[in-house]
Amino acid sequence: MAELEGFEFGKSDFVLLDEVTMEQFLENLKLRFEKGRIYTFIGEVVVSVNPYRQMDVYGKDAIDAYRGRELYENPPHLYAVADAAYKAMKRRAKDTCIVISGESGAGKTEASKYIMQYIAAITNPSQRAEVESVKNVLLKSNCVLEAFGNAKTNRNDNSSRFGKYMDINFNFNGDPTGGHINNYLLEKVGIIASSSDDRSCHRAVMGALKVIGFSEEEVSSVYKILSTILHLGNLHFETDGESVQVVGGDSVRHISELTDTEPESVNKALLYRTVATGGGEVIEKGHSEQEASYGRDAFAKALYERLFAWIVGRINSVIEVKNYNPALHGKNTVIGVLDIYGFEIFDNNSFEQFCINYCNEKLQQLFIELILRQEQEEYHREGITWQHIDYFNNQIIVDLVEQPHKGIISILDEACLTAGKVTDTVCLDSMNHKLGQHPHYTSRKLNPTDKSMEFHRHFRIRHYAGDVTYSVEGFLDKNKDPLFQDFKRLMYNSSDPVLKEMWPDGQLSITEVTKRPLTAATLFKNSIIALVDKLACKEPYYVRCIKPNEVKSPMLFDDARCRHQVAYLGLLENVRVRRAGFAYRQPYERFLQRYKMTCEYTWPNHLMSSDREAVEAIVVQHGFEGDVAYGHTKLFVRTPRSLFTLEQERAAL
Ligand code: ATP
Ligand code: MG
Repeated sequence: MAELEGFEFGKSDFVLLDEVTMEQFLENLKLRFEKGRIYTFIGEVVVSVNPYRQMDVYGKDAIDAYRGRELYENPPHLYAVADAAYKAMKRRAKDTCIVISGESGAGKTEASKYIMQYIAAITNPSQRAEVESVKNVLLKSNCVLEAFGNAKTNRNDNSSRFGKYMDINFNFNGDPTGGHINNYLLEKVGIIASSSDDRSCHRAVMGALKVIGFSEEEVSSVYKILSTILHLGNLHFETDGESVQVVGGDSVRHISELTDTEPESVNKALLYRTVATGGGEVIEKGHSEQEASYGRDAFAKALYERLFAWIVGRINSVIEVKNYNPALHGKNTVIGVLDIYGFEIFDNNSFEQFCINYCNEKLQQLFIELILRQEQEEYHREGITWQHIDYFNNQIIVDLVEQPHKGIISILDEACLTAGKVTDTVCLDSMNHKLGQHPHYTSRKLNPTDKSMEFHRHFRIRHYAGDVTYSVEGFLDKNKDPLFQDFKRLMYNSSDPVLKEMWPDGQLSITEVTKRPLTAATLFKNSIIALVDKLACKEPYYVRCIKPNEVKSPMLFDDARCRHQVAYLGLLENVRVRRAGFAYRQPYERFLQRYKMTCEYTWPNHLMSSDREAVEAIVVQHGFEGDVAYGHTKLFVRTPRSLFTLEQERAAL
């Protein structure tokens, strides 16, 4: 619960709304945005609106104001959440995590940077050199990952295009000792089309790589792989009707030099694929022009993806905690920071949105579960009877997507494994057949009035946050591993040891590659399940980011866009859960301090035997005994109305 700073800036906590409606929520959010208050609480959750301008709220003064304070002592801020997570970790030896979500451009990565900076600023007061160096490497690795993982998109000049989870480890002193990064890459970054020529930025990143501990050879290999990708982008194919040729000047020669392979092998991998026939024979089959282009793009994307994964792996080997002996150093605790896409819905939703939205269903489930658990634990600590809270359990939607054999991912995988030409629409038929009766799945085909061709290509999921219609086009290709084995073998045979290390599966011959690799959806599902397991055993803190408009303006609050995000982030549900029991709670002492002037028995000082009794006197005097419960250390107030009465009275004095 935020300190009440007066309602002229709107309500600093959404639980204080008169009624939990979208209208009131938006009105408050907008008022605060316009008054330059970009942060608002929902209990312990921070809702953040991207200000699209530099705010003077992150400096040393602010850090000092939030350091070691309780959540309700200061106005809402990222620092309040970062400090709460840090305190829980340090005082109660709890592993904690901060989950930052929101759509592209909403400010997630900026928020994660401020949180990391805050943690860096409040730790290691004695400036020990080894801790400073750990902090430096952690911050630098963030910068490297952004440089490689980010792309300029029309929604965000510096879009992450991936989810990132970073664990920061702490020793018993509360100082960072290392960390670990997991990345959830969804779209292989648009490097095929763009060729970034920002040389100063490039140099800065190469410098950061060296600081982290990459060797000269490794940095040079990274550079060569990036150049290879650019050269692949310069290649085209041409056919005379019989055979296909590579066009593109010296590109093949450059690629062979950069990757330390033979030019003939590069040429061959671009134009042919090795296939095993039914009879066990191995033959070489020439690509069509279209297949060759498709292969080239898949190769460039895979090169980038593996480079990125390798860099993350190398960073992890540098930042991982070494020689930590719990017997000697005490319990090693963790703060995890997750920067991940929120729910996405566009005019045309494809495989990527399907994955992202599935991920958000999982996170929502965890969120509700953990918030409820947190509430329950607090009630228990305070000796207050728990009351049942009604909420929508989205397990049914999670099952629709991930259930073995019956779920959408299984059906997709099955279609990908089926020999012969299974098209997206055939796969959709199979989904419609198996899931047609599911309450959260709709096939357009089932709608007899829809006569357009569209219905052949769409299905709709009723997500917790609303309905999303997905176009099935491209689902199968995106789900399959589109890379010909010939490219993998080419890379494995490179004389560059770094490159070779990235392609261990290239050593398999075509006849050994019978076992299909896991599909993109299954890999994604596995990584999200692992992520949720990681988060579930931690005490969670949440930052929900909102993008106020599409034009990066610091002035404009686009009602429709914000309404949409509030809905998709499930924020109203969040307020409801938080208010279901007691909307407001505060330690007796603080409550007394704020309201003692409203009661004759407590002003200027009370003569009762405890603060709790004094608070009781205030409550009785204002006649809302029925609206409160007395915990061991805190007063719990069911509805915000009682509080407004007190606030009004206080203001009138
Ligand atoms: P994506 O999902 O595409 O990676 P994101 O949610 O990580 O998006 P950011 O890159 O954090 O979005 O923010 C987009 C831009 O908005 C930033 O480059 C910055 O210009 C601006 N911005 C975000 N948060 C703030 C802030 N707190 N103060 C000032 N500017 C901000
Ligand atoms: Mg980002």
